[in-house]
Amino acid sequence: MLLISCPNCGPRDETEFHYGGQAHIAYPENPNDLSDREWAEYLFYRENTKGTFAERWVHSTGCRQWFNMLRDTVSYDIHSIYAMGQPRPDTQSGLAPGAATTGATAPTSSEGV
Ligand SMILES: [Zn+2]
Repeated sequence: MLLISCPNCGPRDETEFHYGGQAHIAYPENPNDLSDREWAEYLFYRENTKGTFAERWVHSTGCRQWFNMLRDTVSYDIHSIYAMGQPRPDTQSGLAPGAATTGATAPTSSEGV
């Protein structure tokens, strides 16, 4: 059972939420220009990622708001929860933002403050 932190309501049981599929699928700019195959690919073709996957969820029995989640499809670990319309967070091989890393490539936020 997952414990999902709704951005509006806080941590709630998985049973209060519904899965909404892959996140960041952009609506076609000119849908009338698409072939039937391209339209079908937009509607039905989705990634089947093994590992960190960006997906949409809705808090259907709570605030009824949609949000995005980065979740590992193998371990079910939730790496990040972020608002609709925001870009996918850079997780650097699956680590949550701000998580400890062993490399020196982690961005610092001390500059330009
Ligand atoms: Zn909520």
